[in-house]
Amino acid sequence: MNIESNIEKLRVSVPAGVKIVAVSKFHPNEEILEAYNGSQRSFGESRVQELVEKQPGLPGDIEWHFIGNLQRNKVKFIAPFIHLVHSLDSERLMLEIEKQAAANHRKIPCLLQLHVADEETKSGFSPDECRRFLARGKWRDCTHVQLAGVMGMATYTDDQMQVRKEFRLIRSLFGEFKSDYFPDDDHFKEISMGMSGDYPVAIEEGATIIRVGTLIFGER
Ligand SMILES: *Cc1c(COP(=O)(O)O)cnc(C)c1O
Repeated sequence: MNIESNIEKLRVSVPAGVKIVAVSKFHPNEEILEAYNGSQRSFGESRVQELVEKQPGLPGDIEWHFIGNLQRNKVKFIAPFIHLVHSLDSERLMLEIEKQAAANHRKIPCLLQLHVADEETKSGFSPDECRRFLARGKWRDCTHVQLAGVMGMATYTDDQMQVRKEFRLIRSLFGEFKSDYFPDDDHFKEISMGMSGDYPVAIEEGATIIRVGTLIFGER
């Protein structure tokens, strides 16, 4: 597994405006450093404990992305350094991020995680839950939480039309939220969607961030 060349190959297939988050969960720091040596600076982890074990031993200019289900009692461990939380999916979680971001004198950018896939297990707001969350407006009081866009996952299936439809829905929800709530807010701009198996379709459907693990680091 040559991590540096995997990243190079991925980069040439991704337009310049799309950010690649290298998903390093279950891979050790030595492999993360190989990617770092290939100029990769954005990494994604899905478990707080794993992230806080890895982060102190790695270069300080890495941007850490949190992409997994985030428990409220663990927010405090990542609040000092997290670059972007992709998985904001409740008001209670937002209030805890607000509290911990304030305690650290930071603004923490967060994406609204949307559940559009045909699978029970995936977390996230349903489209209507997210509409209600935005309409209630509590987020306006959270001056340390910066809503920065949306994140979603497609169903794990070979049916490319279904995957495309789900990415299209995520993008259209982004457009709806943008025009209803953030027309003049330049921070609300990200659409995080697409993984190793489906990132080309995600990019065609408007992704601004892709989250790729297996294609870079190999099987977990
Ligand atoms: C693991 C994971 C990824 C990366 O998946 P690959 O198929 O290995 O590219 C992307 N997003 C989330 C939320 C993940 O949990």
